Amino acid sequence: MIGITILGSTGSIGVNTLDVISQHTDKYEVIALTANTGVERMKAQCVQWQPRFAVMADPDSAELLSKALKSEAASVEVLSGDEGLRAVAIAEQTDYVMAAIVGAAGLSPTLAAARAGKRVLLANKESLVISGCLFMDAIRESGAELLPIDSEHNAIFQCMPANFTDGLAVTGVKRILLTASGGPFRTLSLSELHQVTPDQACAHPNWEMGRKISVDSASMMNKGLELIEACWLFNTTPEHIQVVLHPQSVIHSLVEYSDGSVLAQLGNPDMRTPIAYGLSWPERMESGVSSLNLFDIARLDFEVPDLARFPCLRLASEAMQTGGTATAVLNAANEIAVAEFLSGQLRFTDIPKIVELTLTNIDANEAHSLEIVLEADMQARQYATTAIQELAA
Ligand code: NAD
Ligand code: MG
Repeated sequence: MIGITILGSTGSIGVNTLDVISQHTDKYEVIALTANTGVERMKAQCVQWQPRFAVMADPDSAELLSKALKSEAASVEVLSGDEGLRAVAIAEQTDYVMAAIVGAAGLSPTLAAARAGKRVLLANKESLVISGCLFMDAIRESGAELLPIDSEHNAIFQCMPANFTDGLAVTGVKRILLTASGGPFRTLSLSELHQVTPDQACAHPNWEMGRKISVDSASMMNKGLELIEACWLFNTTPEHIQVVLHPQSVIHSLVEYSDGSVLAQLGNPDMRTPIAYGLSWPERMESGVSSLNLFDIARLDFEVPDLARFPCLRLASEAMQTGGTATAVLNAANEIAVAEFLSGQLRFTDIPKIVELTLTNIDANEAHSLEIVLEADMQARQYATTAIQELAA
């Protein structure tokens, strides 16, 4: 049996992961489930899965869970905090870690799993955006297997030559075509974008996801974060990646080779496909996803992204070119701005403004250590918070 720890089991990726595992209980055993504050959801998951450990990042929630499990799942050991998350990520019984916590909170346990040489199924793209160099070093040094779960990166991974880590040019890869649905606001004008609400931003046309990544998809910051993620995963630079708007989300990304061949991975937009691939690689297994019906889809469209309406994509690309701690600053400012937008305190079109202001005012340093990166993250959060208060005043 392969032991699995799911960081962020109550979220959209977490629930999809458990759905795939439920189809293969002969192969996989759930070692640990983790969440932040969702005690009721976690309790239900613990009763169903009877994991060895359950972690609530929030200590009060851990206490509530512990009491709630007394009668129905007393054998589950309840842990709390970042310490608890790291402990289950590196636990001896854990073979694979699904990294599906949202945002910078996912960095510490995901990095711990990488350092411990686990197979890391990476959904938490923010880990790579914040500390790509340190993260990739940890993977190499420990010999951990890194399987991208983000659908685009999973598609690229499937289309890459086996030896892609030797360098794209050496292995005949010319460029990566990173597809983007364009989100719910793809066709809105700038003045219309000014008025959009959090619920409209979270109503993605093709994917059902958590609220933070849904807003990122609507602003196209998600594609910006994914551009950075792809640079680290595939050892390349933004000039070798073309973002392609593809509203149907059927082609999940493409790889172009020097001979003119372009390989694509297609499928219904359902995260259980990349999750099953990450779990079963290098083999394949059932995921529960229905067959792609090309006759129903009938056509596939492609457009150039509009950086004037969606400046987040430009900001992410520039931060990656600046390098060092700039991408950690970008991510932190975005997390603050998105949270304020979701709570009704900031306009949608002010998200890129706050990110740009923060990038301009916080100097980038070499990202030599986790301490330096986390310091940049904290400075950017403080700066963005103040900038939002000043905007409201
Ligand atoms: P979600 O909001 O649905 O779930 C987030 C999970 O993280 C929950 O289990 C929550 O309890 C936990 N969490 C939140 N804050 C935490 C904290 N401070 N400490 C510990 N745990 C915390 O999010 P999601 O849509 O499942 O996305 C998870 C990650 O996967 C994100 O990084 C996202 O970018 C990435 N991703 C998601 C999708 C998707 O289809 N949902 C696709 C690609 C990548
Ligand atoms: Mg994606």
